[in-house]
Amino acid sequence: MIEQDRLISASVQGEEEAIERAIRPRLLGEYVGQPAVKKQMSVFIEAARQREEALDHVLIFGPPGLGKTTLAHIIAREMGGRLTVTSGPALEKGGDLVGILTHLEAGDILFMDEIHRTPKAVEEFMYPAMEDYAIDFVFDKGVHARSHRYRLNRFTLVGATTRVGLLSAPLRDRFVIFRSLDFYNDDDLVKIAKRSAQLLSLKIDTQGAFELAKRSRGTPRIVNRLLKRVRDFSQVKADGVITQSTVKGALELEGVDERGLTDLDRRYLKTIIKFYAGGPVGIEAIAATLQEESDTLVDVVEPYLLKIGFILRTSSGRKASEAAYKHLGFRVQGKLFS
Ligand code: ADP
Repeated sequence: MIEQDRLISASVQGEEEAIERAIRPRLLGEYVGQPAVKKQMSVFIEAARQREEALDHVLIFGPPGLGKTTLAHIIAREMGGRLTVTSGPALEKGGDLVGILTHLEAGDILFMDEIHRTPKAVEEFMYPAMEDYAIDFVFDKGVHARSHRYRLNRFTLVGATTRVGLLSAPLRDRFVIFRSLDFYNDDDLVKIAKRSAQLLSLKIDTQGAFELAKRSRGTPRIVNRLLKRVRDFSQVKADGVITQSTVKGALELEGVDERGLTDLDRRYLKTIIKFYAGGPVGIEAIAATLQEESDTLVDVVEPYLLKIGFILRTSSGRKASEAAYKHLGFRVQGKLFS
């Protein structure tokens, strides 16, 4: 995968993981933006704490990098419970989940990322675990089959997904609190840029933070990634201070344009415009032309392009909007935008 594409990728590894740990907000008060989410969660957390009960199961959905994992960490800290982290695809057999569930103490939080990718055999253990805090073991088969119910401590499941539509109805119905995270506005992204810069001992001025915010696709994780990438450039060109011009200079080199689009975004849009005459075109056809996974396009590329109105989803497929033509300098009905 080429460097620019990694900027928007959903996976976090190595050095980035260590940096994320250092700058990830720990309390609700440090979580920037998403006022409706914060307000609702603080009421639920306070109420559960007063009743000295486990918090109801929470489902958080939204595109990668918007703060789902962060919110799970915050919930655990605010509730005073321990956090166990796993993900749907990491659990292959029912036994994998049972091992985790039986080790949870009362009030613990189990965070399950990519919950829509949980195998069916594992999911079946989740229903009684979520509903009755129990798991049912079945011994033997046929007429000799016996089942044994094992009691679990009252825990809270925090599920996260980029695709709530792919969750099965029985699983979805067992969540009580639902929260969707939306893309962040520029003011919130400026706050995040300044906060992260301070925690990483970097100097950034207000115009620099605005320029970074504008190019971050409404996503905190991308703010933090870009911050790291402009750091070296600023060190050489501007005595270490991150300014509007160092952000522009560094991100031009990275192929991130003034709307925050990366090379993959532009290739995606150009495929619709040039190859499929602006659409409508199905996602599988776009993925095949680009030689990319359609899941990557649906989870990572499309949500932001939809948000800024560069593409439209119709029943017959994706269409590029006039704004996308204009941004890329293509003609719409004989008019040349540049
Ligand atoms: P997700 O789980 O949705 O993919 P994360 O919770 O891992 O996203 O967030 C990615 C990074 O963005 C975190 O390390 C954190 O530093 C930052 N971040 C996310 N949400 C916020 C927020 N509301 N305020 C400040 N920083 C945030």
